[in-house]
Amino acid sequence: MNGSTKRNRKQKESLIVVTIDGPAGAGKTTIARRLAERFGFCMLDSGALYRAIALALLGAQVTPDAEAIPEDLLSTIKISVQPGVGRMKLLLGNEDVSAELRSEEVGLAASKFSARPEVRKALLGVQRSVAKQHNIVAEGRDMGAVVFPFAQVKFFLTADSEERAKRRYAELLEKGEHPFYSQVFSEMRARDHRDETRDLAPMVPAADAIVIDTTSLTPDGVLSIMSDHIGAKLGIVT
Ligand code: C5P
Repeated sequence: MNGSTKRNRKQKESLIVVTIDGPAGAGKTTIARRLAERFGFCMLDSGALYRAIALALLGAQVTPDAEAIPEDLLSTIKISVQPGVGRMKLLLGNEDVSAELRSEEVGLAASKFSARPEVRKALLGVQRSVAKQHNIVAEGRDMGAVVFPFAQVKFFLTADSEERAKRRYAELLEKGEHPFYSQVFSEMRARDHRDETRDLAPMVPAADAIVIDTTSLTPDGVLSIMSDHIGAKLGIVT
């Protein structure tokens, strides 16, 4: 074993990674934030990274349906994250774009761009570098299966698709938007389908993930189940 492998292994052993994967509307982001706050861990919202790359590509006039992303363009996009306990700031170049990432347009573009292997590859390093410096709760679609296969605790949250669409619809209403429920439902199903069927890193629970169906659970209920698992695994009293 060479020096750098030894160091990497040491880092992996001493820092904690909790992963939460699952489809949109399963409650991942809220739960990840609350869990991170509870345990004093930093938060890695990987969806925000895919949204940031989509924002940058759209800004460079590349549409998600374009045949190819111009060579070298991805290497010019500089995404960095400043993780904090239960939150994460994201910089594109030197600019904090966190607020611009939440639009439907960017979300849809992120969903389409994320199926491209070169996009997924471009984001691997930045995701892994966060876990080299902090204990983290990482949420996304492929955290447990691909990005952090060595994570100490892995969860996969799911919920009935109608329930997820209802939650998303309520969120949009709260933001002052006027969506049609049927459209919210069909767009969500389309995103699930893209995430589940892409060739690279499709959304599947890691073999060692704890799967939790949140359909009839409150956020507090989900949090309590997950905290118990983490506590038991890490030997912490919760
Ligand atoms: O979770 P969020 O809606 O912010 O993610 C935006 C899109 O990025 C998702 O629709 C999904 O297709 C993609 N994504 C991904 N892998 C991740 C996180 C997000 O493919 N780890």
